[in-house]
Formats: sequence, C-alpha cells, structure tokens
Amino acid sequence: MVDADQTFVIVGGGLAGAKAAETLRAEGFTGRVILICDERDHPYERPPLSKGYLLGKEPRESVFVHEPAWYAQHDIELHLGQTVDAIDRTAKTVRFGDDGTLVHYDKLLLATGAEPRRLDIPGTDLAGVHHLRRLSHAERLKGVLAALGRDNGHIVIAGGGWIGLEVAAAAREYGAEVTVVEPEPTPLHGVLGPELGGIFADLHREHGVRFHFGARLTEIVGQDGMVLAARTDDGEEHPAHDVLAAIGAAPRTALAEAAGLALAERAHGGGIAVDHRLRTSDPDIHAAGDVASFPHGLFDTRLRVEHWANALHGGPAAARAMLGQKTAYARVPYFFSDQYDLGMEYSGWAPPGTYDEVVIRGDAGKREFIAFWLKEGHVLAGMNVNVWDVTAPIQKLITSRTPVNTEALADPHVPLADLVP
Ligand SMILES: Cc1cc2nc3c(=O)[nH]c(=O)nc-3n(C[C@H](O)[C@H](O)[C@H](O)COP(=O)(O)OP(=O)(O)OC[C@H]3O[C@@H](n4cnc5c(N)ncnc54)[C@H](O)[C@@H]3O)c2cc1C
Repeated sequence: MVDADQTFVIVGGGLAGAKAAETLRAEGFTGRVILICDERDHPYERPPLSKGYLLGKEPRESVFVHEPAWYAQHDIELHLGQTVDAIDRTAKTVRFGDDGTLVHYDKLLLATGAEPRRLDIPGTDLAGVHHLRRLSHAERLKGVLAALGRDNGHIVIAGGGWIGLEVAAAAREYGAEVTVVEPEPTPLHGVLGPELGGIFADLHREHGVRFHFGARLTEIVGQDGMVLAARTDDGEEHPAHDVLAAIGAAPRTALAEAAGLALAERAHGGGIAVDHRLRTSDPDIHAAGDVASFPHGLFDTRLRVEHWANALHGGPAAARAMLGQKTAYARVPYFFSDQYDLGMEYSGWAPPGTYDEVVIRGDAGKREFIAFWLKEGHVLAGMNVNVWDVTAPIQKLITSRTPVNTEALADPHVPLADLVP
C-alpha cells in the first residue's frame, strides 16, 4: 500500500501524462500528484490537429483531455509552460521552470512524448515552413490552408506518412494545391508496405493530390523570407507557398538520457527502455506513451508505439505500476486514421520485412476491406478500411498466434469470429 504522504511527479502533459494522473486518483492515491508540462495549454489529444480541428469541424474546446477545472477538483498540481530540465536520481528530485524549482518525487513518470523531426536543408527558416505537433501549430496551419484554398496556393508536404496524408486531405478540402514528396515508392511504406500503400496513393490522386515518389527535398527556395518552391534531389522544383515537414517524430529522451536511464536501440525505434510494467532502468521512474520502448511478447521485440491508444492505455498502466500493481502492459498496438471519406483502424505490428503474405478480404477497389499481414500463416496485423466493429476479432486472431485458413480469411462470407481458434 502506498503512503498518503508520497509525491508522484509526472513530466509531460500529453494524453499519457493526463491519463496517468486521472488513474492515480481513480485508484485511490491520496498523496501529491504533480503534473509538469512545457506547453501552456491544458493536456489535449493530438489526433484532431490533423483532422477535425484542422478542418474547422471540431471546436478548440473539444481537444482537451479534461475540463480545466478538473485538475484542481482532483487535487492535481498542474504546472503549465514549465520545462523539466534535470532529474537527480540520488536526491529523487526534478528541476523545472525558469527559477529552477526543485520538487521531490517518490515515483516519477516520464511521459515526454515525441517531437517532429526537422528537415536539415537550406530554407527551413523561411516563414512558410511548418511542422505539426502542437495545438499552436494546428491553429497556424489551419489559417495557412484556408488562405491557400482561397488564393489557389500550393503546399508541398515532405513525407507521405499518416500526418502528411491527413494534412494533404485537409488541404485539398480547403482547395489548396498539394504535392507530397516521399522517398519511398508508396505512401505509408514503412507501416503498410508496398501492397497497401498504393491504395492510399490512389485515394489521394483521385482527390487531386500530386505525388513525387523516390525523392527527398534538398532545398526550400525563398525570396524576401517567403517560400517560392521546393527542390528535390532529382533536380525537380515544385512551386510552393508553404511547406510542411511531416517526416516523422523523435522520442523526447534528452532528460532520461542525461539522468543515465537506459535507452532502447535505434533499431527498435529508440525511446526510453522500460520493462513489461513500464519501469525504466530505475525502479522509481516509469515511462509511457510515445517516448517509451516496451518489450512486446507477441511480436518478440521492443516496440515504441507513437499512437493515441498507446498513450491512452499506457499512461494508466504506468500509474498502476507506480502504485505497486503487478499487471503487465501487453496491449495489441492499435491506431486509426481518417482521410476524406476513408476511415481505417489498424491493429498489430507488421512493418515490411516481418510478414510474408498479405490477404485481402473484401473489395480493395471500393476501399471497403480488411487487409491482413501474415507470417507463416499467423496473423500479425489487420487493417479494416471502411468496415467497422471488427477490431475485437482481428485482435483475437493476432493474439491467438495460431495459423489461419487463408482462403476463409479472404472470404467475407465467413464470419471472422469463426476463424478465431
Ligand atoms: C497531428 C497529429 C495527429 C495524430 N493523429 C493520430 C491518429 O489519428 N491516431 C493515432 O492513433 N495517433 C495519432 N497521433 C499520435 C498521438 O497523438 C500520440 O501518440 C500521442 O499524442 C502521444 O501522447 P504522449 O502523451 O505520449 O505524448 P505527447 O502528446 O507528445 O505529450 C508529451 C508532452 O510532454 C511535454 N514535454 C516533453 N518534454 C518535457 C519536459 N522536459 N518538461 C515538460 N514537458 C515536457 C511535451 O511538450 C508534450 O506536451 C497523432 C499525432 C499528431 C502530432
């Protein structure tokens, strides 16, 4: 049982941090809970920043994890706009804010998330170069897309990953001209592989997006501080008024690294290395959300999952572990995306190189199907596109680790539940 006079400190007020604070109180912890975040906004969810909020369909208030008053009501000491810049593991303190305030912790949670990778090319200091991670970025980008739409302007998006494609869809809905530059031969290549990436390329082309595959940006050309064009390594020049760098995110590990905590290898996506209970190499320090790399028994590897559901469930799992509960964190990775009228959910983990077969169930041409990635007959991952209420059987097929009959898997007339052993 944890003493009521203990202090639990959470660094990072994203979804993982906010949900951890909520769970500590829900589990009956009566000690001090201190949540410190370098952003000035109350903890919010990021998915709407590239979808409903960016499109002006969801109001600003809808993105927050809790009402502002919730924190005081639950006796959560919230320090917004304050950066934690050091952890002293011997004294068990963290230092934060301009005045270097020191606060003691009995247990510490690092939920520092990730930050957008920057383009390392000439021209990135121009006014029209953007990133998308924070609410303030989304507010700015929303104005930019609306103006581009009005003026027939052009945005070049570096990166055909989820955020690049979602912004491409939003930009087209505003009426902007869009070019996506992507080094791989298809969008979403690193997650879906070439078989499924093409379906997303077709979707976007039908909505007027231009793709430039097999190329990287080498320079953003400007004049008087404004973007004029974006150049690629094959010598092409794309007219642009704005450029979005959507080339992935890096886990925010600097604090953990300076404190001497073990980090995961880059080959496993980097991040703070935690065990199956989200404990770091220091048993009084936990990590959750985008920044944490945890061992996943199902896939026999460490995973660092940069998705909403992992922050939603990982934050609470870390909070329970901080309270001494002994449950392992072993959820099947899950995420979703919305682009135009396509909605999808993906469960599992099957990047290129890990699977040997892709099975499609339904009509990929109509974009109403489920794709399965298999290895030696086992389902590693499944993605349902415009087909709903199938996440539970897909995840059961993954967790069963038993070979399935692939003909039946491809046949929409055979209920998925019948295939689960
Ligand atoms: C635009 C966008 C769209 C997305 N859409 C989807 C989607 O459709 N589906 C999906 O599954 N996932 C989506 N994601 C991913 C999902 O939002 C993330 O996985 C989730 O936000 C991770 O939550 P987190 O709490 O781990 O980290 P974060 O949300 O990054 O929060 C970490 C917080 O800690 C703060 N911080 C870091 N270091 C310090 C420090 N030293 N001191 C104080 N504060 C610090 C950061 O500023 C940040 O506020 C999207 C992400 C983005 C950016």
